[in-house]
Amino acid sequence: MAQSKMKFGIDLGTTNSAICKMESGEPVIKKTDTLKDTLPSCVSFTKKKIAKVGDSAYNDLRQDKSRATKKWSNDRENVFIEFKRNMGTDKSYESSNMGESFSPEQLSAEVLKALKSFIADDNITSAVITIPAKFKADQIAATKRAAQKAGIEHCELLQEPIAASMAYGLSASNKNGQWLVFDFGGGTFDVALIKVEDGIMQVKDTEGDNYLGGKNLDYAIVDSIIIPYLKENYSITNIMENETTRNILRDAMKFYAEQAKNQLSFKPQADITSQLDEFGEDDEGEEIELDMVITQEQLASVLTLVFQKAIDITKQLLKRNGLSGSDLDKLILVGGPTYSPVLREMLRKQVTPNVDTDIDPMTAVAKGAALFASGIDSDVKEELAIGTVALTLSYEANSVQPIEFVTIQLSKEECTGSIPSRLFVELVRSDNGWSSGKVEINEIGDVIECQLMDGKNNAFTVNAYDEKGTTVPCFPKEINIMQGIVVGNAVLPYNISIEAHDSGLEKKCSEVGKRS
Ligand code: ADP
Ligand code: MG
Repeated sequence: MAQSKMKFGIDLGTTNSAICKMESGEPVIKKTDTLKDTLPSCVSFTKKKIAKVGDSAYNDLRQDKSRATKKWSNDRENVFIEFKRNMGTDKSYESSNMGESFSPEQLSAEVLKALKSFIADDNITSAVITIPAKFKADQIAATKRAAQKAGIEHCELLQEPIAASMAYGLSASNKNGQWLVFDFGGGTFDVALIKVEDGIMQVKDTEGDNYLGGKNLDYAIVDSIIIPYLKENYSITNIMENETTRNILRDAMKFYAEQAKNQLSFKPQADITSQLDEFGEDDEGEEIELDMVITQEQLASVLTLVFQKAIDITKQLLKRNGLSGSDLDKLILVGGPTYSPVLREMLRKQVTPNVDTDIDPMTAVAKGAALFASGIDSDVKEELAIGTVALTLSYEANSVQPIEFVTIQLSKEECTGSIPSRLFVELVRSDNGWSSGKVEINEIGDVIECQLMDGKNNAFTVNAYDEKGTTVPCFPKEINIMQGIVVGNAVLPYNISIEAHDSGLEKKCSEVGKRS
C-alpha cells in the first residue's frame, strides 16, 4: 500500500456539474455521456424505477413541462433540479415513480456517481469537490456525506472562487493585485474579491444573491418576448389570469427561452420553433406553437435589467472594501451566462476594462479543483503491483519559487518485490526540458533540486533503475508541482464559526502550502 496525490476535481454545481482529471500535469475536462463538458445537475426517476442523470433527465423535465400544458395541470414530480440549494436542510424530494423520498445529498450523490462513470479507467475514491464561498457548516457536512454516498471516501472541499482563480492564476502574467471572481450561475450569483500577493491567493470578501442567475434571464425572456408573441398570436387571457395555468405556460416556455439565450451569446439571431403537438391549446382550443425569431438587440434590453442587479452587488462589495473598479487587476468570469456579450460589455463599462475572457467560464471551477487536487495527498492507499519499489517523495506541491527541493527515500517496508542492491532514481520534467540525472537512493534519502517552469503545473516522471541501468517498476510514477500560485487561508467570510473550523476545510486548505 502506498500513498499518491489526488487527481480529480469536481464542480458540483447547482445547475451543471463537471469532472476534471490531472493528466501529465494538465487539468483535462472529461466528457459526459452526451460528449459535453458539463452535466446538468438533474435527476429523473422513471416508471421502471431507474435513475437518470444529466441531459436525459433534463429532457424528461422539458417533456413534463410541455405535457403539463395539455391538461393545464402538473404531473406528480419525478424530475429534480437545484437540490444543491437545499443541501444541509431536511428538505425531501418525493418521487411518485419510486414511491420514496430523496434528500438533497442523495440526489447530489447520484450526480457524483454519474460524473465518476465518465472516467472509464479509474475507480475514483478521492477528489476535490468545490462549494460556494458562503456555504455554512451544515451545507459543507452534507456535501461531504454526498461524496461518501457516491464512494468518494476521501473528499476535500475547495471554495468555487478560489478554484476559478487557480485555473486563471496559473497562467496569469501578473501574480499580484486584486482579482474579482464574478460567478453568475444558473440560479445563484456569487462575487468574490481575491487578494493575490506573489502568487499567494486569499478570499478577502464575498457577496451574492442566492436567487439570481441564468434562470432569471430565461423567465425575463419568457415574460418580455415569448408571452407577448403568444398574446399576439393566440388567445391566452384566461390562461394568464390564473396563477397555476400561467406558471405552467411560463415553465414550458422557459426551455425555449434558455435555448435562444444560449445561442444568442454567439449568434446575431435565434430561431425558436416548437415541435408539432408539443403544447396544449389556448383559450379558444387552438394548439399553441412557437415559430419566432429573437435577435440580440431584443435580448439585450431584457438581459440588461437582470445583469444590472449583479453589477450593483459587485459595486457594493468593492465599495465596502474601499475599492473602485480601477483597483481591480482582473475580473474573472465564471458561469454559463457570462458568455453573454451584453454582460461582458456592461462589466467593462461599469466595473473594469480588465475583464478576462481567456478561461472557459463553464469549466474553470472543475479545472481549478483538479489543479488543487494535484497538491493533496490522497488518504486512499493504493495497492502496489507485485515487484514494485516504493518511494516516498516529500516536496511542496504548490510553489512560488523557481526551484523546489524534492526529498526521495526508499520505503523498504512498502516494496512488493526484491529491492536492487543499489537503487537509482531519476526525475524527468514532462516537457523534457530538465532531468535530474540518476541519483542513488536509500532509506535515508537524498534531495533533488528540481527546476520548475514558471506559471505552470510541472509534472515529473519518476524513473527507477538498478545498478545495471535496468528500469525497475516504482511508485509513485509521477509527481506534480504547481508553480506560480498558492492558496492562502481560505477564510469563510460569511461563516466564521467553530463549526467552520471543525469542518476541516480551513485546515486542509492551509495544509497545501506545507511539506507533505
Ligand atoms: P451553476 O454554477 O449554477 O451550476 P452554470 O455555470 O453551469 O451554473 O450556468 C448555468 C447557466 O448558464 C444556465 O442558465 C444556462 O442556460 C446558462 N448558459 C449556458 N451556456 C450559455 C451560453 N452560451 N450563453 C448564455 N448562458 C449560457
Ligand atoms: Mg457554478
